[in-house]
Order: sequence, then structure tokens, then C-alpha cells
Amino acid sequence: MSRLRVGVIGVGHLGNLHAKMYAQIETSELVGVYDVNTERAQSVAAEHGTRAYASVEALLHDVDAVNIATVTSTHHDVAMQAIDQGKHLFIEKPITATIEQGRTIVQRAEAKGLRLQVGHIERFNPAILALEPYRIKPLFIESHRLAQFNPRGSDVAVVLDLMIHDIDLILSLVRSKVVRIDANGIAVVSDSPDIANARLQFENGCVANVTASRISQNKMRKMRLFQTDAYISIDFAQGLAEVFRLVDEQEQSATPTMLLGKIDQGKRKRLIVYEQPEVREGNALKRELEAFVHSVKTGTEPAVTGHDGLQALEVAQEILAMIQSQRITAIE
Ligand code: NAD
Repeated sequence: MSRLRVGVIGVGHLGNLHAKMYAQIETSELVGVYDVNTERAQSVAAEHGTRAYASVEALLHDVDAVNIATVTSTHHDVAMQAIDQGKHLFIEKPITATIEQGRTIVQRAEAKGLRLQVGHIERFNPAILALEPYRIKPLFIESHRLAQFNPRGSDVAVVLDLMIHDIDLILSLVRSKVVRIDANGIAVVSDSPDIANARLQFENGCVANVTASRISQNKMRKMRLFQTDAYISIDFAQGLAEVFRLVDEQEQSATPTMLLGKIDQGKRKRLIVYEQPEVREGNALKRELEAFVHSVKTGTEPAVTGHDGLQALEVAQEILAMIQSQRITAIE
């Protein structure tokens, strides 16, 4: 089967890594790169043994699919150009700067029968993949994504830069409608919120308490899920998942289990067990882009669809609007 011809548009920090991956993935061919910064495009092209194109149009002519890793404010315009030329798309997160823009590209891509995947990379974190054998039905979620300050990404609020990773993941785990949002946050070093907290309430009763900061002293990327039969702790930075489960005495587990205790009350006698599901080694970015290539080649639905990207953006924008309305009240 022939390899998917891919071009990377926007080869800054992330686009450079994307280009590197497409050059390595066996099912794709890195045809070339394009960046408004010509020097940058040339140096990245040289690094990965590919061509730097002088225009988006020329690159679009030669590829089956594009990978858009430009600054978020330009995602919409670049994506529309690619869609008009009938090219499949991988777009970095957040899908677009505004909901209206996101809706337009999702609808246009669908109308043209094009595959569109959004770069919510945590779905491919080895710790999340390790939880696949488990029944995930959280009723309370606590998540923390704390980073040290880095000017890159601070052109948008921390909600759109960092919190959106957890929003997408939580929406994919809970699979229920968000019925209420409470949020607060403050701008400390930039003009937009640098630290934010949101409480999402879902139709099925689940509540998620989500915190994101880019002005913390120490990094942390953790999520804790509580459900009626388990407590699951995920450390994205370490790629580690830990599961504390209540199981019937007769249940056999495929995972090595440590017995922590026994519950004798009630009709069912249950054990409390601790498990560390096996984490498969591997690069999350490579897995993410391999999944995109696979989806285009097989015509199957992408692992993270345009609708998923749009839904995460809608929730993020609602959180942001709530924070901003509170800031106006505070000034008054
Ligand atoms: P960056 O500033 O390092 O790179 C952006 C590049 O895009 C620059 O080289 C710039 O010259 C180029 N560019 C800007 N407008 C362009 C246009 N119209 N056409 C072609 N090139 C253009 O930024 P970055 O950190 O690499 O972020 C890029 C995107 O990736 C953003 O949408 C960001 O939100 C996203 N991102 C995602 C993650 C993740 O974990 N998935 C992490 C970081 C950034």
C-alpha cells in the first residue's frame, strides 16, 4: 500500500516535531514543509531531509494530507485553503480560535468527505491507553495541569492553551452533556488568565474540578477519577496509571494485583485491590500521527474528530467567558 503524502504547515516548536514523526512513520511520506518564516522552514526541511515550499498552494498541490501546526489564530484560514483543495487535515489544538471558525471547518471538511483529526494528544498518553481494559465511569474528577511560565502559548488564556487538554479528555471519559459550568481565574503575568479553575457538572451526575496554571513553581499533570467501584490516578508526565478497585472475591484479574483489604459489610464480600496496569512504551505524538495516517488511509473515523475538538473549544470558551465577566465585575 502506498504511503500517505503529508505536508506540515507551520514548523515552529511543535510542527518541527510533527515533521520529524512523519519522516519516521512507515505509512507516511514527509513531502515537505511550509512556514511564513522562510528561514525556519528551510532549516527544518534540511533537518528532516525534505523540501521547504515557497507557498501553501505549492505544498497543497503535492500532498494528500496536511498537518497544521501554525499559531492558533491562523488555523481557520490555513485549514480552509486545504479543505478547498480536497486535502485531509490534522489540526493542532485548539481546533481554531473561535467556535464559529471551528464549526465552519468541521462542516466543510465533512461536506467534502475529508478526514479531520484534532491534536488532543493526551488521548494517546500511555497512561490513558493502559486504562483501556477498565470500565471507566467516573462520578467525580479532579485534575491539575500546572506549568512554569513560558511565553510560548501565552498569547491565549491558559484555558485554551493547557486546560483544553483536560477538558477534551474529561468529555471523552464522561460521555455526557455538560449542564453547568462554574469558573474563576486571574491574569497574573500576561493579559489573559494565567491560572484558572472550572467546575463542570454533567447530565449523568458527574462533577469535574479542573485546575490549570502556567505560573506554578513545579510542574504537575495529574487526573484522579472516582467511581462507585474504583479510584483511578493518572500521572500524564510520568505515564503512570494506578487503580484501586473493589472486586468480588471470586474475580480473576489479568493485571498483577496487590490485596489492600477486605470489606465484610453488606451482602457482597469485596476485596480492595491495587493494580498498576501495564503501560506500553512509546511516543504519544507518534501514536497520534500514526492514528491520523491510518484514519485517512482506511477512511475510518479519526480517534479525535473535528466534533471532539469543537466540543472541547465550546466548553473552554464558556469557561473563559465566565472568568472574563467576573474580571469586569471586579474592576467595577
Ligand atoms: P510556535 O510559535 O513555536 O510555532 C508556530 C509556527 O507557525 C511559527 O514557526 C510561525 O512562523 C508559523 N506560522 C504562523 N502563521 C503561519 C501561517 N499562516 N502559515 C504558515 N506558518 C505560520 O508555536 P507552537 O508552540 O509550535 O504551537 C503551534 C500550535 O500547536 C498552536 O496551535 C498550539 O496551541 C499547538 N500546541 C499544541 C501542543 C500540544 O500539546 N498538543 C503543545 C504546544 C502547542
